[in-house]
Amino acid sequence: MTEKKEYLIVGAGLSGICMAIHLIKNNHSITLIDSGENFSTAVAAGQINPLVFRRMTKSWRVDDYLPYAEKFYTDLEIDTELPIYFPIQIRRMFSSAHEKVMWIEKQNREGFSDYLETITSEDDEYDLAQNDFGSGRIKKSSYVNAVNFVEGGKNWIKNRATILTEKLDYSLIEPSSASYKGKKYDFILFCEGSHNSDNPWFNQFIVEHTKGEVLTLKSDEISEHESLNRKCFLLPIGNKLFRLGATYVWNTPDRTLTQDAKDDLLDKVKLLTKKSFEVVDHQVGIRPTTPDRRPIIGKHPTFKNLLLFNGLGTKGYLMAPLLAKEFVDYLDFDKELDKEVRIERFIK
Ligand SMILES: Cc1cc2nc3c(=O)[nH]c(=O)nc-3n(C[C@H](O)[C@H](O)[C@H](O)COP(=O)(O)OP(=O)(O)OC[C@H]3O[C@@H](n4cnc5c(N)ncnc54)[C@H](O)[C@@H]3O)c2cc1C
Repeated sequence: MTEKKEYLIVGAGLSGICMAIHLIKNNHSITLIDSGENFSTAVAAGQINPLVFRRMTKSWRVDDYLPYAEKFYTDLEIDTELPIYFPIQIRRMFSSAHEKVMWIEKQNREGFSDYLETITSEDDEYDLAQNDFGSGRIKKSSYVNAVNFVEGGKNWIKNRATILTEKLDYSLIEPSSASYKGKKYDFILFCEGSHNSDNPWFNQFIVEHTKGEVLTLKSDEISEHESLNRKCFLLPIGNKLFRLGATYVWNTPDRTLTQDAKDDLLDKVKLLTKKSFEVVDHQVGIRPTTPDRRPIIGKHPTFKNLLLFNGLGTKGYLMAPLLAKEFVDYLDFDKELDKEVRIERFIK
């Protein structure tokens, strides 16, 4: 049993919820504070794709992250009795003959064959979507229902710890004693996502703002069988609803919904389907990203009781459960953190 420590966690998005759950499981006492405004975790499509299609590479450390994430979300689903984790096949509609050649070249290669189905004649002739160059299917893909994850995660934590709905006032933190409003903690852990720029101790560690817009469509005609992907994704989420996304605008904290983004997505979806639908929702969010596309995790260089877990980027739902476990193991048992996520890489 580890020595019980008292943590104040700032932010109840994906990073704060995963950290709180792991810390509670390791017997620590948690106060989780969240402003109640979430622009990333709750907006996300929550897709877990083992591949990066653009480069036809495996997602970073997917062999470690994927089985752990699957178990983490399934356990949370069982504990909270909320539907959270949905395995669903992703079908990549190829953009060119070259892309198909790349797939064939990789489909039997060690490491890739766990995630790529071998292309069949049915994939070549698939007619439930626009099919210009054939298609390929991904194994072990899924999505997390983001709204249920946030609700379930918070409920799980509420039954075992304190959750405060308020905005943390940084001026009331005394960093050398890790106290807030005069109350001393062993650690203050910042999981603020893109709000990191307001943080006086960690805002020099670059968390970039990557704006994303996503539409929700309703259609009686589009197949709900698979998630389709080509230049955009079209993810069925039940009840004839689909998430269509997402746009990327780098380095902007702006959260206005734009007609340009909507038009862009509606243009791209034509590459997947000509079936009819109506747009029933349009949302915007900000992904917390970093210049080297790796999360940023660790202790403040001076105030060692101030901690950071941020920069989850575009693949947060895949990485967060195991990364949180690894950070807790680092804090409790001094286990090494993956060097690619350590905060030290940004300290000159
Ligand atoms: C449009 C879009 C689509 C996405 N799709 C996917 C996807 O399909 N798959 C995937 O894996 N990832 C996806 N992502 C990325 C994913 O959402 C992020 O990686 C992840 O949610 C980031 O979580 P976070 O906890 O770091 O930040 P956030 O979710 O932003 O949480 C931070 C929390 O901190 C709180 N906070 C901040 N400052 C304070 C303060 N001073 N006081 C109190 N509370 C504070 C905020 O209220 C917020 O709730 C998408 C993101 C967007 C925007």
